[in-house]
Amino acid sequence: MHEVPIVRDIFNTLQENHPEKFDRITKVQVEAGLLCNVQPILIQNAFEALIRDEPQLAHIDLEVVLLPIVAHCDTCDQHFTVIRHRFVCACGTPSRKIVQGEELRISKVEFLN
Ligand SMILES: [Zn+2]
Repeated sequence: MHEVPIVRDIFNTLQENHPEKFDRITKVQVEAGLLCNVQPILIQNAFEALIRDEPQLAHIDLEVVLLPIVAHCDTCDQHFTVIRHRFVCACGTPSRKIVQGEELRISKVEFLN
């Protein structure tokens, strides 16, 4: 399960970025591109495993938003969404110029006032 280190990383980053406010985090939203092969349910399971070690995180709501894969077509000079790993634009041009889908990032953090 590669999700446990991912979740641990997310909270390490939060601790580094918000050292004074870390205790007041109530909600964290993470965006994961489909190419990361991250499954929200496995992230939740990993988070629950992490909470067993670090019970002070138990009140945090962790949400994972999956981002579709988007590539760029040079023929149309436009982005297109890649469905079922078919890296072909509607015009028929194949493209592997990924513009979205590989990212894994913290997109939102909410704090208790
Ligand atoms: Zn095209």
